[in-house]
Amino acid sequence: MQRTKFFDPKICMTASLLFVALTAFSQAGAPKKTTTTSRPDVSYKQEHSSSLKKQSGLFADGLKLKMDLSILEETKAREEDEFPMFDPETIPAEDVYGGLWPTSHVAAYGTLTEVPDSFLVNLANFSIPCKGYMTSNFGRRGSRRYHYGVDLKAQIGDTIYAAFDGKVRVKDFERRGYGNYIVLRHPNGLETVYGHLSAFLVKENDVVRSGKPIGLAGNTGRSFGSHLHFEFRFCGKPINPNFIVDFDNKVCHRDEYLVTDSSYKKTTASSKVLYNKAAASTYVESNKEAANKYVSGTVKYHRIKKGDTLSAIAMKYGVSVKNLCSLNRISSRTILREGKSLRVS
Ligand SMILES: [Zn+2]
Repeated sequence: MQRTKFFDPKICMTASLLFVALTAFSQAGAPKKTTTTSRPDVSYKQEHSSSLKKQSGLFADGLKLKMDLSILEETKAREEDEFPMFDPETIPAEDVYGGLWPTSHVAAYGTLTEVPDSFLVNLANFSIPCKGYMTSNFGRRGSRRYHYGVDLKAQIGDTIYAAFDGKVRVKDFERRGYGNYIVLRHPNGLETVYGHLSAFLVKENDVVRSGKPIGLAGNTGRSFGSHLHFEFRFCGKPINPNFIVDFDNKVCHRDEYLVTDSSYKKTTASSKVLYNKAAASTYVESNKEAANKYVSGTVKYHRIKKGDTLSAIAMKYGVSVKNLCSLNRISSRTILREGKSLRVS
């Protein structure tokens, strides 16, 4: 475990850079050396930095390097502490999907009988799958088939990233539809679909972290002009992505999304995206309204402020701590993080 962490390519690259920088620094302090003799020395160390690194304590600056590496590892450990990786051997959200892990088809859950009627999805650690603007929205497409996702502009070969940590459930080709496509299942219960890809960077059952490359954009399948077709699904059923993501700002509207029956409602709105400025601003507003619909009714959220405690929040909203914990799937010892939302009813 320690070993694999140590040879993480990201760390190794940073380490090599540090090594070069430190070597240059130590040579600056030794004026007797001429540039002609120190140059090959640097490139030699650069070339062999990976093997030199293994010989800990061999060089004075090697020791410094080791210290810096441990800081990098600490940072990485802190990140993992905040967003711990799920066990790669397990099926993400296995209980929600009744243990099903079909490796073909987007909507593959015909046999799934017990879909929860409401389910709170944790949206922390979201990454926008590609940087492009929206070219086609979720919605009606005249006589053509309903558009169950959003299209984001991308050039052929642009990198497509995983929206959350997850596992590759499907990596397949569909000539009349998605083209080359990937379906990821996430531990938060959602599945995301990435269509019309020109290349795959992952294979079936690969575990990916949020924001890591999974494929390259393309124009395969039923596609006119290169773009990414992106969908959110829960138990196979499509959810309007605008309910979850603010595509203008490329972030989630909230830290959590409550899946209910209304999540699957097909909008009667056309999938056309309007480009003139005035229309674009109305379009954003109507989306935000729609996206926040789920906070109305009986479901209430509390934004955590500095100094908040579970018992104080429970008292404020007239619920028990136990109730709060079960609503949010946390324990009474969970540390509350400022700015996060807690469901309180
Ligand atoms: Zn599309």
